[in-house]
Amino acid sequence: MATDEGFSLTLSEDQLEVAGWVHEFAERVIRPAAHEWDEREETPWPIIEEAAKVGLYSLDFVANAFADPGGLLLALASEELSWGDAGIALSILGSALAVSAIVANGTPEQQGEWLPQCYGSPGDIKIAAFAVSEANAGSDVSSLRTSAHYDEAKDEWVLNGTKTWITNGGLANLHVVVAQVDPELGSRGHASFVVPEGTRGIAQGRKFKKLGIRASHTAEVVLDECRVPGANLLGGKDRLDARLARAREGGRTATQAAMSTFEASRPYVAAQAVGIARAAYEYALDYAKQREQFGRPIIENQGISFTLADMKTRLDAARLLVWRAAWMGHIGKPFAAAEGSQSKLFAGETAVWITERAVQILGGAGYVRESPVERWYRDSKIYTIFEGTSEIQRLVIARAISGVRLT
Ligand SMILES: Cc1cc2nc3c(=O)[nH]c(=O)nc-3n(C[C@H](O)[C@H](O)[C@H](O)COP(=O)(O)OP(=O)(O)OC[C@H]3O[C@@H](n4cnc5c(N)ncnc54)[C@H](O)[C@@H]3O)c2cc1C
Repeated sequence: MATDEGFSLTLSEDQLEVAGWVHEFAERVIRPAAHEWDEREETPWPIIEEAAKVGLYSLDFVANAFADPGGLLLALASEELSWGDAGIALSILGSALAVSAIVANGTPEQQGEWLPQCYGSPGDIKIAAFAVSEANAGSDVSSLRTSAHYDEAKDEWVLNGTKTWITNGGLANLHVVVAQVDPELGSRGHASFVVPEGTRGIAQGRKFKKLGIRASHTAEVVLDECRVPGANLLGGKDRLDARLARAREGGRTATQAAMSTFEASRPYVAAQAVGIARAAYEYALDYAKQREQFGRPIIENQGISFTLADMKTRLDAARLLVWRAAWMGHIGKPFAAAEGSQSKLFAGETAVWITERAVQILGGAGYVRESPVERWYRDSKIYTIFEGTSEIQRLVIARAISGVRLT
């Protein structure tokens, strides 16, 4: 893989400038607000408004970051935001999940219509949600039950079902809902629908109280005879019919394309985990230099300094896996060894490991709610669960490297 040109570990001036700008926002606006919004367990609207005002919460920012010639800008920005606070970062980045689904599946006209509605404008902020998971369909997405029935007479789709664990669920102005149009085809019978603001039959169900990332709203989304125009089927009816016909004949193209989309988006989630890990590592390093016990700074104990050495090494290894996968996705290089999953697996587990070590280094001072390290420890855990659990990442990697159809 080293033969490809264009990848550099030396960041360009543009990349450094944007990453520095995002870092400044994270340090000045996000971090000071982190404790408050973690305690409130609500979407931090004033912070999103602030991010929209400076252009950070906007379609333009996400589009420019995606278009970065080096392919790393979105990963850099995600790390910086999450370094500020992971829950607030997810409130800012969460709409991008719906954006990815619209970009991956929508026609150019649909993208033109719906993408701006995921963000709105600084004076009229919108948020979006991507709803796939259900109570009986988490890791096993193929068993989802939300149905989409086509009412030909009205050229409308009728959605019924309950989605769960949805980021921005029910609060969002626009939901992209994945539903089953042909149960016999499993995941090959899935299609994605845009449910815009003001649609009848969509409502928020239970809101979840969580272990971490509590400034990010997570809830059920209930669809009850929810009707959307035929034009809201992403990709359009002709493309869906052709895809279903191919699937009935045993074709696997759609599934393979979806896998490649997932692989390409995983490094951006992984970059958020790197942001939390970095925050905890930096904090623990400073603390270990200042905290004195037995008449000397605790960092002078090898037990502490070696732990910090391991934290730094794993942190950098995680970031390198993230950058490699982000760059591969950017140039369209095939993920032969599921490099996107590798980045998500390693960064998620590294964030949990590093934040746990940071609590240990701070001792009692790391165990209390006033300490950011306590929050980072709680926040890190979600990165081994959502966007594919660690076990599912291992499954994807094992399949890719073995060629064996493991289950
Ligand atoms: C805070 C939060 C936000 C979320 N946001 C969204 C969102 O915006 N949109 C959305 O659609 N979903 C979202 N999710 C859902 C998330 O993607 C799922 O929780 C995740 O995919 C795991 O599904 P599950 O919780 O049903 O666990 P299960 O699939 O029930 O897994 C339980 C355990 O079994 C293991 N397991 C399952 N299958 C296998 C296997 N084959 N081999 C080995 N182990 C296995 C899992 O790894 C896990 O340890 C969110 C979840 C949370 C908690």
